[in-house]
Amino acid sequence: MSANYKELKRQAFEANMALPKLGLVAFTFGNVSAIDRKRGVFAIKPSGVPYDDLKVEDLVVVDMKGKAVEGKLAPSSDTPTHWVLYRDFPEIGGIVHTHSACAVAWAQAQRPIPILGTTHADHLPVDVPCTDLMTDKMIQGDYEIETGNQITGHFKRRGLKPVEVPMVLIAGHGPFAWGKDASKAVYNAKMLEELASMALMTLQLNPKIGRLKQALIDKHYQRKHGKNAYYGQAKGH
Ligand SMILES: [Zn+2]
Repeated sequence: MSANYKELKRQAFEANMALPKLGLVAFTFGNVSAIDRKRGVFAIKPSGVPYDDLKVEDLVVVDMKGKAVEGKLAPSSDTPTHWVLYRDFPEIGGIVHTHSACAVAWAQAQRPIPILGTTHADHLPVDVPCTDLMTDKMIQGDYEIETGNQITGHFKRRGLKPVEVPMVLIAGHGPFAWGKDASKAVYNAKMLEELASMALMTLQLNPKIGRLKQALIDKHYQRKHGKNAYYGQAKGH
């Protein structure tokens, strides 16, 4: 039994197992993948396996042609979407898809999540983008590939950078999040759910509130992500 991709599968397994613990998935919903760029493969959750039954060896390793190279089970049906995101966003190392409730609510309302407070600005400097609904042609075509194209096309048209904006809503469907590795992608998926929940409550309390003022957005984003970032324990602070 080959174990060529043991470490990659372990990373993807642990990230997948974090989803139910964080309350981001029910039943068999959701999937995480982790990529090894040097070897040109990524490990992803198998299709339809409940989290309680999932084992490291169940993870499926897929190459950049979309072909399974290790694993006995069929990969997640969302695998082609992950493949497109890895192809078009070369900086990312891990991807998460969930149907977490608050993020789905915004996706179903077909609305970007407005940047209303500093929790949001700590993580990204703009609204969480929401794609347009997919066209009939895309839906009837290669649906999962086109879902990926819908995301990366939206980022390209809007001039959004995947490193700066590590999350998206697909209209009528739900969220995808990513990061430099699978564990960071899980963090961003949980953060997205928190931002979605906070924005929903804020607009219930005051539907007329506008975006956070730009000076606060800049302050919070830059102190964590700018070139003179000082938040946290890095660089002698
Ligand atoms: Zn989905």
